[in-house]
Amino acid sequence: MSADGTVPFTAPPLLPQTRRYAALGDTYAPQVATTPLPEPVLLHFNAALAEEIGIEAAAAQRPEFTALMAGNRAWPDYASISSVYAGHQFGSFVPQLGDGRAHLIAELQGRDGDRWELQLKGGGQTPWSRFADGRAVLRSSIREYLASEAMHALGIPTTRALSLVGSPQPVRRETIETAAVVCRTAPGFIRFGHFEYFYYQNRHAELKPLADHVINEHFPQFAGREDRYQAWLTEVTERTARLMAQWQAVGFCHGVMNTDNFSALGLTLDYGPYGFMDAFDAHHICNHTDEGGRYAYDQQPMIGHWNCSRLLQATLPLLSEQPEQAVEIANSILERYPPAYTQAMTPMWIAKLGLRDLRLDDPELVNRFLGILHKGHSDFSRSFRHLARLRTDTDAPAHGIRDEIADLEAFDAWVIDYRARLRSESSDDTERAVRMNAVNPKYVLRNHLLQAAIEQAQGGSYEEIDTLFKLINRPFDEQPEMERYAEEPPASARHIEVSCSS
Ligand code: AMP
Ligand code: MG
Repeated sequence: MSADGTVPFTAPPLLPQTRRYAALGDTYAPQVATTPLPEPVLLHFNAALAEEIGIEAAAAQRPEFTALMAGNRAWPDYASISSVYAGHQFGSFVPQLGDGRAHLIAELQGRDGDRWELQLKGGGQTPWSRFADGRAVLRSSIREYLASEAMHALGIPTTRALSLVGSPQPVRRETIETAAVVCRTAPGFIRFGHFEYFYYQNRHAELKPLADHVINEHFPQFAGREDRYQAWLTEVTERTARLMAQWQAVGFCHGVMNTDNFSALGLTLDYGPYGFMDAFDAHHICNHTDEGGRYAYDQQPMIGHWNCSRLLQATLPLLSEQPEQAVEIANSILERYPPAYTQAMTPMWIAKLGLRDLRLDDPELVNRFLGILHKGHSDFSRSFRHLARLRTDTDAPAHGIRDEIADLEAFDAWVIDYRARLRSESSDDTERAVRMNAVNPKYVLRNHLLQAAIEQAQGGSYEEIDTLFKLINRPFDEQPEMERYAEEPPASARHIEVSCSS
């Protein structure tokens, strides 16, 4: 016990710090202290993730831990840092952005040797705040907290969320809201925009230490190789292509696919006005601010490609000292994107239909089904989920799925071909349903479900956050007591608007 009566801080157990990003120094990420948040309350804690990192779950009981997660005290043995980056926002280059409200508070070596970075989002102003307040509101913090865990549970590479802290501190957006801080984790938070910042300032010598850090820490298989930059950029390009395919397969729309929101590790990053699609519309725009639909659902794979081209542009000086040769190498890397996307995407659609092996006409079968869903604005997740109940041992109408469909004539014609296709591979109904249910989620983090949890939290109750957290952790499992969360959204859900305001 110290003189002021507090128990000396010992927990959470101090995992070894690796501090290798911070070691890059001020050029990349200067030390910036967090701003204390009044009356912090730990609203949710991700015990399973804590366990994975090596932080004991009991840490959540300690006020010192809440203080850490609120930014009210520093992680022992680490001075928090905020990094500078640039980015193409809606196609236009912005030369300086940066962690305007994000502080890296720890770089840990987890129990199994994995690297974990802990970042607070909403912990106060930094040199990169550009007149903004450095805070995040409860509404957007709940959205980020739950979405990143939902994506993780769906098997999609993403940053994750360790804790959600609330505070009565008022924060002004369109209305007055209250502040919150999410502690998010990832092996690293380097974005495409980090490289763009130095490239467009003609500070090309500063690209190398950053790229070497990324390679040494996150792509050690390429470390020391002469062609390591090419190898890493090829890997990021292919990972990005695969990530886009994974988004498409679950109907996830990111909403703000700016290059500053794209991860150099191929992770889903920065959950703002995202949305899991309810009614399928290939041109669905989830971000109310995105009037032109630049980041519409069907644009995502193409934007992923364009973003990779921006990263490759910014890393040209790493690829060769001869500019022409650098461009040639960059182009050869970029060419890997379309086949990587197709090689990831096609098998996912095939699996969603329950087909075992890919045949020549299968893409057409997929496209016809998607076309039917699109035309009739059928619910994306429910339609695929219901399809698993269609039988091949009878030609009886397929119940469940038919209720989702508007153009039954087109659908029934499609079902004839689909059944024939399934029979041609002697598909077993029971076995196929198991396979399909393992790739077509039953429970999706729909906007209206989130909205209910947000409104409840704004009223001071947090049970719904926990309910959704548990629900979306098992998206593929039948959870009979949760059936209503898989129902078709109410008509009012169509009018929920999410924008860049957060
Ligand atoms: P986003 O659209 O959320 O990716 O944010 C774009 C940029 O604005 C990033 O550099 C953020 O750090 C910064 N930013 C967004 N909101 C705030 C805020 N409330 N305070 C400081 N910086 C912010
Ligand atoms: Mg961002």
